[in-house]
Amino acid sequence: MPIQVYNTLTRTKEPLQPIKPGKVSIYTCGPTVYNFIHIGNARVFVMFDVVRRYLRFRGYRVKYVQNLTDVDDKIINKAKEEGVSASEVAEKYIHHYFEDADALGIQRADYHPRATDFIPEMVSLIEKLLEKGFAYRVNGDIFFEISKFKEYGQLSHQNLEELMEGVRIDVDPRLRHPLDFALWKSAKPGEPSWDSPWGKGRPGWHIECSVMSSKYLGEEFDIHCGGHDLIFPHHENEIAQSRAATGKEFARVWLHNGYLNIGGQKMSKSLGNITLVRELLKTTEPEAIRHFLLSAHYRRPLDFNEDSFSESESALKRVYTALDKAERQARLLEKRTARPASAEISLEDIRKKLAAEFEEAMDDDFNTPKALAAFFNMVRDLNKILDGAEAWKCSPDELHSLAQETRRLGAVLGLFQRAASGADTELSAKLLDMLITLRAEARARKDFALADAIRSRLADLGIALEDTPDGTFWRMK
Ligand SMILES: [Zn+2]
Repeated sequence: MPIQVYNTLTRTKEPLQPIKPGKVSIYTCGPTVYNFIHIGNARVFVMFDVVRRYLRFRGYRVKYVQNLTDVDDKIINKAKEEGVSASEVAEKYIHHYFEDADALGIQRADYHPRATDFIPEMVSLIEKLLEKGFAYRVNGDIFFEISKFKEYGQLSHQNLEELMEGVRIDVDPRLRHPLDFALWKSAKPGEPSWDSPWGKGRPGWHIECSVMSSKYLGEEFDIHCGGHDLIFPHHENEIAQSRAATGKEFARVWLHNGYLNIGGQKMSKSLGNITLVRELLKTTEPEAIRHFLLSAHYRRPLDFNEDSFSESESALKRVYTALDKAERQARLLEKRTARPASAEISLEDIRKKLAAEFEEAMDDDFNTPKALAAFFNMVRDLNKILDGAEAWKCSPDELHSLAQETRRLGAVLGLFQRAASGADTELSAKLLDMLITLRAEARARKDFALADAIRSRLADLGIALEDTPDGTFWRMK
């Protein structure tokens, strides 16, 4: 069964059919580097990091590009505020972006192109749009004429009138249509600018992504990702520019992440309700942040509140405790001298069920909450065995491979990678065997007081003894 993905463009779940078999090309709109990232931004980057990891897990060769918007009004304004150059602002926040992304375990993309490195390519794309009659010039500014592009609104599934409703009231009188947008902006004093056939200026935001995506992935590629708020106008405009210039499809599948809400409102810098990733990292384990961000399906809104992380922390703890217990039990069982003559309890079914449930969930449009549920089902089944009277019958190899499987699948989500507690168990196992022998000897000479004392003192340490026809075995309680 191929992976099913929900394509914003078709509004349906469709099988992922890459242009080149076995290879997937992905572009995600990266940060505009004028501030630290907040947890809402992080949701996008963590989620598409997981999409990329899962496609690799499923055997695809993935080429992943995430740009850095390093020239923009917001950067220029910040530079003015701080009395430094725009490039200094960009440099500083690129550095901080990677600090936060690394802390959250977001793997680096194959390419992180910076917009300012591709100005000549942007200029030539704009020239092409002018030649083909999709753009017009007003002095030093160039605008895209959306009424020339018949498919405008296709991604948003809205016609021009509907799209107009969300548009600012004071429209630039130079525009032929209120939804026309800037491809090139003429230079203003004190702003960064580059040479062009239309005089000095800088690119508009949308043209950056059209250029950088096709530069690395070609004029047609598989998946374009971004936050839900980018559908209109950013992605709509990217499609218009790229298709108009090349006559090709551009991105085939569009994935969009739902909002991170706080008190029912979207978290955004403009609303002033943001929580920075680096603030959260002071008090919260990165893994708990990641777990929380993956706890809702990516297309749904995710509510952020005070309890968000404590739920994730206890969920992680449940899995880690089970992993520790399984691995400790396996190591102890490996050292035992007496082996059960009766059949070992097989854990293979639990392992297979975990893998099947995980893949089924992720194949279904990257359903991470369902994938997380697979781990908790495994923990429940495993605990039932490890807490049962026959825990000593487990196969150590199967305990290890169940723990390994948990880590292998967890790696796709960037979770459950912490090493086991690794206490020295060899000595413990020998001591336990010795005590069991001493107890057997005590019983043989009818010293039941000593035999019972050994049993009850071990029980105090959390170790239960089971007397069976095959001999006496211990298990962790
Ligand atoms: Zn973009």
